[in-house]
Amino acid sequence: MTPILELRNINYSYHTPEGETKALAGISFSLSPGEFTAVVGPSGCGKSTLLSLIAGLMRPESGEIFLDGAPLTENSSKIGYMLQHDHLFEWRSVYRNVVLGLEISGTLTAETRSEAEQLLEQYGLLPFARSRPSELSGGMRQRAALIRTLLLKPELLLLDEPFSALDYQTRLTVSDDIGQIIRSSGKTALLVTHDLSEAVSLSDRIVILSKRPASITRIVPITFALEKDTPLNRRNAPEFKNYFNEIWKELNHDE
Ligand code: ADP
Repeated sequence: MTPILELRNINYSYHTPEGETKALAGISFSLSPGEFTAVVGPSGCGKSTLLSLIAGLMRPESGEIFLDGAPLTENSSKIGYMLQHDHLFEWRSVYRNVVLGLEISGTLTAETRSEAEQLLEQYGLLPFARSRPSELSGGMRQRAALIRTLLLKPELLLLDEPFSALDYQTRLTVSDDIGQIIRSSGKTALLVTHDLSEAVSLSDRIVILSKRPASITRIVPITFALEKDTPLNRRNAPEFKNYFNEIWKELNHDE
């Protein structure tokens, strides 16, 4: 099976008047369709740099990135984003926020409008379609932001610390909720987070990066023997602590 995303020996350095900062050193990994992968590493190691390269915002110094078997191009419509801030516009209703991407890409049709309504209905937001974003809870706002992204039918979702603006309690329920929606959508997802618990509760695999310049220390497959494998159930399962400790040790060993 062709991986959705493949990184081959990626290197990247920043050049400033003060000198060169090597951020990424020989990063190679690939994502299979439907897989949920998290990337963790010490602060400042190069996680955002890696995401910017995958998003096509910067080019690697050397190495290659393939999306769906073809070299990555800028602004690929195959990539969707979920960021720390939901970027919902207060002057638009919830409905008009979720169709914004379709409007911008010129694909707002009777069919895609009906898809928007279906997703709003499926995820419990239809009664709020005419509301303003400020009338929604933090979790509902993230759902709306995710629906806006899913309507563009991306093949790969890049999640950049998507829950870090939320308080701890909200964060647990929202990551559970959003994690389940992403699973049920069958999308391939790449999550960058500094929150190890979040990575263990959400992903199928964790890519551990070393301190800067980031190289891959280890890739740990995550499996839970749960009847209902949800992020919240994982947090209460016995394997959770083992994975957490194993990866924590790996990260701190590096320091
Ligand atoms: P992380 O996301 O893991 O915290 P980053 O990818 O943001 O790390 O940064 C990796 C390293 O590259 C850091 O040491 C940072 O200081 C440096 N860096 C990031 N952006 C720039 C830039 N625009 N110019 C110079 N150095 C940068």
